[in-house]
Amino acid sequence: MAEEVKKTITKASDTAKKAAEPAKKTVTKAAEGTKKTVQAASDGAKKTVRAAADKTKSAAGAAADTAKKTVKRASDAVDTAEEKVTEAAAEVKDTAKEKVSQGQRKIKEAKPTGNATLLRIFAVICWVLALAAEVMAILVIVERIELPMPIIWGVIIFLVVDLIFCVVASQLWKKANHIDPASEKNPLKFWLWNNIGVIMAAVCFLPFIIITLTNKRADAKTKLIATLAAVGCMAIAGLTGYDWNPVSQEQKASAEHVLEGVDVYWSNYGHRYHLDENCSSLSRSAALTYGDVDQAIAANKTHLCKFCFNNHAEEYEGLEKLIAGASE
Ligand SMILES: [Zn+2]
Repeated sequence: MAEEVKKTITKASDTAKKAAEPAKKTVTKAAEGTKKTVQAASDGAKKTVRAAADKTKSAAGAAADTAKKTVKRASDAVDTAEEKVTEAAAEVKDTAKEKVSQGQRKIKEAKPTGNATLLRIFAVICWVLALAAEVMAILVIVERIELPMPIIWGVIIFLVVDLIFCVVASQLWKKANHIDPASEKNPLKFWLWNNIGVIMAAVCFLPFIIITLTNKRADAKTKLIATLAAVGCMAIAGLTGYDWNPVSQEQKASAEHVLEGVDVYWSNYGHRYHLDENCSSLSRSAALTYGDVDQAIAANKTHLCKFCFNNHAEEYEGLEKLIAGASE
């Protein structure tokens, strides 16, 4: 009995084994399939990752190159800037040295001389306005026009306006004469050109004085004050209008010829220009101007300094022509 059972069990077991065989195979196959799929998927993923990595690498490389280039450029720019700063600093140092070597004295360049014709036109306009003011003063003193104030005040106001235009006109005229002087060859024109300021001072006040003194209607006190005021104005206009340091066309031409292309120096005082900025007669001048000799003459510096002449007489031909006759 037991034997039979044993056989049956063995059989059953074999049958089960046999039945299990295909399942095993299927499982194995399935497992293999899965393995392959996983492998393939893994390969694909690996490739993708690698490709991505490569891409990232090249992109990073490019970015790194650009960054490197940018940094290089920036560093170059810094170098250039540094050079510039060094240069500028050197320049500043040099300028500072120069200033110190000149004993802290300011030396400025002269302005362009200006246009003589234009100055003369403005001078004439100012004289015309001065004459108009004189006519107004006359009309007030002879009571042809009435102002809302005492006669004497009206007269004084117009005389002062007359004086201001007269002085401005003669200064402009003198300036024009130093830019474009008259020739000594025509004595009348030379005299007239240099004295027109004084002549115009007389023209701008003398008629008023004569009319006032001969005016019978005005009271004695008004006449006296008006006359004294007009005489005072005429004196001021005459003294400021006279050219105390005239220059001739010939004088200017010889200075330009002798000192062609040479810088000369002058201070605010006196009527002489210098060849040396360190001339002993300039030692007390804090501010100097330099320029061509025609700019010096335009600035009313008409003659060469005697010290500078002594120090440079050998260097320039005809230098002695430039020292004689200056009013100090
Ligand atoms: Zn000098």
